[in-house]
Amino acid sequence: SAPAAFINEPLTDFSVEANRVAMKAALDQVRSEFGRTYPIVIDNKPLPVTKTLDRENPSRKSELIGKVAMANVEQAKLAVKSCLTAFDTWRDTSVETRAKLLRDVAEQFRKRRFELSAWIVFETGKPWRESDADVAEAIDFCEYYAVEMLKLGATQHRDVPGEDNRYFYEPRGVSVVIAPWNFPLAILAGMATAAIVSGNTVILKPAEQSGIIGAKLMECLQAAGVPPGVANFLPGDGEEIGPTLVQHPDVALIAFTGSLKVALLINEQASKTPGGQNFVKKVIAEMGGKNAVIVDSDADLDEAVKGVVDSAFGFGGQKCSAGSRAIVLDGIYDQFLNRLVEATKSLAVKAADDPGCSLGPVIDAEARDRILKFIEAGKKEAKLAHQTDLGALMEQGHFIPPTIFANVPENAGIAQEEIFGPVLSVIRAKDLDDALRIANGTRYALTGGCYSRSPSHLEKVKRKFRVGNLYINRKCTGALVDRQPFGGFKLSGIGSKAGGPDYLLQFVLPRTITENQ
Ligand code: NAD
Repeated sequence: SAPAAFINEPLTDFSVEANRVAMKAALDQVRSEFGRTYPIVIDNKPLPVTKTLDRENPSRKSELIGKVAMANVEQAKLAVKSCLTAFDTWRDTSVETRAKLLRDVAEQFRKRRFELSAWIVFETGKPWRESDADVAEAIDFCEYYAVEMLKLGATQHRDVPGEDNRYFYEPRGVSVVIAPWNFPLAILAGMATAAIVSGNTVILKPAEQSGIIGAKLMECLQAAGVPPGVANFLPGDGEEIGPTLVQHPDVALIAFTGSLKVALLINEQASKTPGGQNFVKKVIAEMGGKNAVIVDSDADLDEAVKGVVDSAFGFGGQKCSAGSRAIVLDGIYDQFLNRLVEATKSLAVKAADDPGCSLGPVIDAEARDRILKFIEAGKKEAKLAHQTDLGALMEQGHFIPPTIFANVPENAGIAQEEIFGPVLSVIRAKDLDDALRIANGTRYALTGGCYSRSPSHLEKVKRKFRVGNLYINRKCTGALVDRQPFGGFKLSGIGSKAGGPDYLLQFVLPRTITENQ
């Protein structure tokens, strides 16, 4: 039978009281579980914990929310061995079995929706709504890749009289998934379930900053019945265990999402072919961005201001899709800037567990220091147009004031480097051609946006603004699985789109069998 059509999981409506009550109860429940230790899981069994990493609440740094085991090189090798053994059987399970596993994982996410959102709120400082969207996206990845795999799994026939020709796909083998912390459930789950559903076995290496959510994902995989060794949970320091995993002769594929620097390192390391490795490794890498929103002189200002604020300051600018440059045409520059500053002042900067929070803390002390350095440098490169005064919050957690720089030269550091924080550079452009030249003038090409009412301008923008995901008259963040397959090119990505029709093809190898009749 034809695979069921994919439908995006609805977001939770927190204007409904029952949902607010459920979320508050989940936050209380999760709070009562603070302080636990999360082990490495290999072959569906926890390993004895030796070294751990403390996880603090970025909104309230005095709060320890848990401890996560840190794998060493020997344990990394053990995880590879377990995956290699499990691959022998998992590769030959039916596509239906694998698709069913993903749907069962999605069911686990649905059952634990508020609880998982609450963990995201506490571990990463993400506000309610966006934490809920993270879980919804994880559900979408499971359901979408299940449908896609059922399509991909159908053997194609090109038979002629006397000759039977089959074309089909096989998994690649042991896969290592290395994830960032900013979509702590969705990205780790998306890469891992894509690998699993296409018949590979996988090591889940969560980011250090979101190890507990990684552990929650592993719990969901196990509750859904993932066989031993098909998914192994290996939290740890990327710099310590990364090179072992990436260069291991039994690892066939690395799926990475994170910074440009680490992606290039992995790509380089994986291109070597150590003795005993009888294949070329496949690297899938999604990296950063320095995304721009162009504001045309005839733009609807209400919409443009709201869209730029959402794009720049949603989750504190800690999305790869965040719009960190506003490129504004000369004619409305001053008017736009004034309105932008006013709108930014009204953002509610609070602890992420507060339902009224529209902007929480940044992820950790290291990120805070890095972003503050950019802000200091920005003061020398451009004009500080606004910085919200956060008072005592700055001591309570890793908060950064929403910051806007005006008259930013297009080649300034703050206009070229990915800051990954609530810092927006406003750049003046002479006309649309100038705006497009500036917009395309970084080494990244991930997302972009344009607000305009002029059809001819929009046509030009669609053709000439060369990014992976372009948004017209809306914010440049919040891509949905299937509707907006996500990913960039240039130094934003090797060239694939998560949640899109080509994604799974990267996890498989095509084969042809010809039989003479
Ligand atoms: P990061 O590169 O610091 O870390 C990502 C992962 O790589 C972590 O799990 C880390 O432990 C691991 N790692 C670090 N050093 C390693 C090494 N030498 N070998 C192997 N693994 C190693 O990135 P981050 O701070 O977690 O995430 C933020 C970055 O991710 C930003 O640049 C952002 O734009 C990008 N991002 C991109 C997308 C996308 O879809 N394009 C999505 C989300 C985030």
